[in-house]
Amino acid sequence: MNVERLSKRLNAVADFIPEGAILADIGSDHAYLPCHVVKAGKVTYAIAGEVVEGPFQSAKKQVEIEGLSKKVDVRKGNGLQVIEAGEVECITIAGMGGALIATILEEGKEKLEGVKRLVLQPNISAISIRLWLFENGWSLTNEAILEEDGKIYEILVAEKGDPKLAYTENMECELLFGPFLSRQKNEAFIQKWTAEQKNWERILEQLSQSRQTQEKREKEMELQKKISMTKEVLDR
Ligand code: SAM
Repeated sequence: MNVERLSKRLNAVADFIPEGAILADIGSDHAYLPCHVVKAGKVTYAIAGEVVEGPFQSAKKQVEIEGLSKKVDVRKGNGLQVIEAGEVECITIAGMGGALIATILEEGKEKLEGVKRLVLQPNISAISIRLWLFENGWSLTNEAILEEDGKIYEILVAEKGDPKLAYTENMECELLFGPFLSRQKNEAFIQKWTAEQKNWERILEQLSQSRQTQEKREKEMELQKKISMTKEVLDR
């Protein structure tokens, strides 16, 4: 991967960035994504945020190599601390766990003023993000799921608005599987949830061989519920 050729995953994230937006890419690492969309003329200006010194330095170096220092501003700091309220229109956060992405949004809530779109790509636990969006007045407007190098990635797109719009009465299920993804049910979706189901069945089998406790019973019930929800989604 490089600035010219993004990974399939980051390309899919880039596709959801609105034309002409001012972007903040949080946890940018090498800054490939902001450099790519600025170079392609898709966005006019971008901020690349990084909390760790090593990736911060590699982002700065990449921006210099590309000659983009006037259009991509690399800033060091935790989460949304690197931006001012009203400064950007779109925020991308990619390649982290869903719980961390939700924490970054929660801790930087006041910086979301003026932001029109969030494009979030969790490596795990997309449900943590769907819950955060729902509880904080963001409407899920689109989702994507794809396979790359044997890994499955989900992308969640949200805009300020009625959080209930994306969901039907079957909300518990849709929070886990994604309302858009479970309707589309593409190959990557089937692959992901078939593997999750097998994993939960394996854990359940291991649990059945251990001593009965209240905690174990609760864990078993939780797993059984998730397995039956998965079967229902995959079979319908
Ligand atoms: N976004 C790039 C991508 O998707 O390819 C890089 C993903 S990399 C796995 C995650 C990056 O997020 C790391 O460089 C890490 O230092 C950074 N990071 C983690 N927590 C962060 C936070 N709270 N604020 C800013 N950056 C963070």
